[in-house]
Amino acid sequence: MGRLLRAISDNKTINMIAIDSKDMVEEARKVHQCTPVATAALGRVITAGTMMGVMMKEKNAKLTLQFKGDGPLGLLVCVSNSQGDAKGYIAHPEVNLPIRINDRKLDVSAGVGTKGTVSVIRDLGLKEPYIGQYPLTNGEIAEDLTAYYANSEQVPSSVALGVLVDVDGTVKSAGGFIVQLMPDASEEDIEILERNLRGVLSISHMLDEAERLEQIMEVILGELGMNVVEERQTRYFCDCSRERMERALISLGRYELEQLLMEDGQAELTCHFCNNRYLFQEKDLKELILASRPK
Ligand SMILES: [Zn+2]
Repeated sequence: MGRLLRAISDNKTINMIAIDSKDMVEEARKVHQCTPVATAALGRVITAGTMMGVMMKEKNAKLTLQFKGDGPLGLLVCVSNSQGDAKGYIAHPEVNLPIRINDRKLDVSAGVGTKGTVSVIRDLGLKEPYIGQYPLTNGEIAEDLTAYYANSEQVPSSVALGVLVDVDGTVKSAGGFIVQLMPDASEEDIEILERNLRGVLSISHMLDEAERLEQIMEVILGELGMNVVEERQTRYFCDCSRERMERALISLGRYELEQLLMEDGQAELTCHFCNNRYLFQEKDLKELILASRPK
């Protein structure tokens, strides 16, 4: 389980959300068999996606956060909802890269790439989802999202994300925060916030040193005041099911299903987010063919 807190400053001009996502990122690492740099990249995307999901006020809203860069890790996706569930996908979890020389950190930027786009799709249950997109800044995920918020949504924000990977490859700590300014935030509020942000260690190091989320938020909001408005448990959770897979197969149409039946005699589908396998045997396919429409 992850733990997430939302807080607001005394004068209600600054919103902050923070998460300890260690368990979620470790689950993602295990599901996808990630190398350290893949764990860091996917972990940052899941950490951000979970917070962005909970930031949606609509009860059954769904969010897809997608990084499409030109690096060797390929596509990175997090699908989350406003209840705190999130699942992730990475195209090439097996890619390993050397530690970056100048700061001895996992080279997420080299893995994700610096050319490409970050996309945010919010499905609020209306006819059309809201889609926002912005070019990548440096492929480090947090800076890309800060730029996305400023330019695509016109919300001044500070996004911090961190994943520490232990020597044995497991997740040592993971977390992040997003601070956003309301339109009526004063210059003074902004100055205080910027000064506080400059003074803090990386979020993953703070969490690794067993600091609680409350303490981290108190340090960042400082004299602006920290008032918790929501606390929530979050989890790595995949909602795939045999019924969903059946619907996906049916949507292929009768002709495709008949081809599958003839050529393979069965169909095996693997969920991209949890690697669960769903096997449809000959009799299952025949039933689906009956349920499908001729195309
Ligand atoms: Zn699944």
